[in-house]
Amino acid sequence: MTAGLRALEARLADELAFLQLPAPRWTPQREHDGHAVLDVAIVGAGMTGLAVAAALVQRGVSVVAYDEAPAGLEGPWATTARMETLRSPKQLAGPALGIPSLTFRAWFEAQFGRAAWDALDKIPRLQWMDYLRWYRDALGLPVKNGHRVTDLLPRADGLVELRLQSDGRPLRAFARHVVLATGRAGLGGPSLPTYAESLPRTRWAHSSDANDYAALAGLRVGVIGAGASAMDSAATALEAGAASVHLLVRRADLPRINKGKGAGNPGFVHGYAHLPPDWKWRIRHYIARQQVPPPRNSTQRVSRHANAHFHLGVAVERVQERGGALQVRTSAGPIELDFLIFATGFAIDWRQRPMLRHIAPCIRVWKDRYRPPEGAEDAELEESPDLGPAFEFQPREGMQCPGLERVHCLSYPATLSLGVITGDIPAISEGALQLADRLAGLLYAEDIEHHYARMEAYAEPEILGDEWVAEPLPPSDR
Ligand SMILES: Cc1cc2nc3c(=O)[nH]c(=O)nc-3n(C[C@H](O)[C@H](O)[C@H](O)COP(=O)(O)OP(=O)(O)OC[C@H]3O[C@@H](n4cnc5c(N)ncnc54)[C@H](O)[C@@H]3O)c2cc1C
Repeated sequence: MTAGLRALEARLADELAFLQLPAPRWTPQREHDGHAVLDVAIVGAGMTGLAVAAALVQRGVSVVAYDEAPAGLEGPWATTARMETLRSPKQLAGPALGIPSLTFRAWFEAQFGRAAWDALDKIPRLQWMDYLRWYRDALGLPVKNGHRVTDLLPRADGLVELRLQSDGRPLRAFARHVVLATGRAGLGGPSLPTYAESLPRTRWAHSSDANDYAALAGLRVGVIGAGASAMDSAATALEAGAASVHLLVRRADLPRINKGKGAGNPGFVHGYAHLPPDWKWRIRHYIARQQVPPPRNSTQRVSRHANAHFHLGVAVERVQERGGALQVRTSAGPIELDFLIFATGFAIDWRQRPMLRHIAPCIRVWKDRYRPPEGAEDAELEESPDLGPAFEFQPREGMQCPGLERVHCLSYPATLSLGVITGDIPAISEGALQLADRLAGLLYAEDIEHHYARMEAYAEPEILGDEWVAEPLPPSDR
């Protein structure tokens, strides 16, 4: 570790001490079936899982974050993401939870200095992952890697059972509350056109797959979509030596304005969750319809290759493998390709999250309780979970699912209910802090008898009785 980082960690320790963090553990220790019961188990130790774990540790709550990924390879940053830099501006405080020494900037300047910070344009992707690794280590967060949660089983007795796989061994754990911090595709997976299923798997990849781009050298590659991931996939294919890359874009033009960014302010972050359903729908539907433009530098990373081709207003209608190639029929005519990359985003699709199979049929989604105005129908939004004030799943009308309210969702599909606090860098601290506050409050209220009894039994005197002498009233003059 560099001297700069050592100094930063000393400053961080001071800042935490000044803020009296973390609070000592105050929740009762419990056992079930020979297992210590966790106050909170988190599924996922990406940026969100880490931030929630840190906020809960600060609040004196017992917590473990489980992640199936190996240590240091959580989330997309060092695995499936392919952009050179983050889209987010470098100065965002990210998961720092209001603590200056926990910011990316503090970590960066501690190693490279103020001048390098001033010269930095955007944060390189792998450096962001390095920062998250440091964040976890500096706070000593309780993360168990190589642990895949396979089943969540809420129960009527105030516990949620987690079934896990680690090193091929089945494990069990029990927690009073569970947080799903499972990321962009957190309640589903890749969104794919139906024709993808009929194509040989060797002929296509989704942009989020761990695809071998070196194998695309010399091939004619089609990329479907025009968002950030489309540009990153196209650029990576071109840099790997693809013979040509054709971006097939249904829209007549690329979206140019990031409406979500324009909406960002503290009111949007803190006020959105309290808006009536009509406004939530209107805002999210508008942002979705306008679409988010790909970053300028990502787009230029593609267009600087002479063998990159942007085809706008081209909708793919059918794809067949014939004659050793893919015959792609589009609204603008046919094109022959060797490989397709679907940069088509993610969808809520409970079948792709077997961990949730026991509760998915119970979970109330927006279409169960909300009808959008005519013309504002939105298949993606209508599948979003309808979350309660503690970010908890709520049961569908008439469904019995005891303990469902102990499962809390802080991943992208929660955005319609909660707003922008669900996993992106700009407001992840607010999401983590709000959820941690709610969980601490719930844990306290659930144990109120215990806490009341502790208060009654509390017997540490603050004065000893030797500080004064009691006297009778002086005799009255009258
Ligand atoms: C390519 C890409 C680029 C992005 N760039 C930006 C950007 O520049 N700025 C920005 O603000 N946002 C960006 N985002 C959006 C967002 O910040 C990221 O998706 C970020 O990773 C969200 O963090 P997370 O912790 O919520 O999810 P993730 O980082 O995806 O972490 C989820 C974790 O859950 C684990 N997990 C899932 N299921 C299980 C299970 N059953 N058992 C155990 N572990 C499990 C996974 O292994 C994973 O490590 C980007 C997203 C992507 C995909």
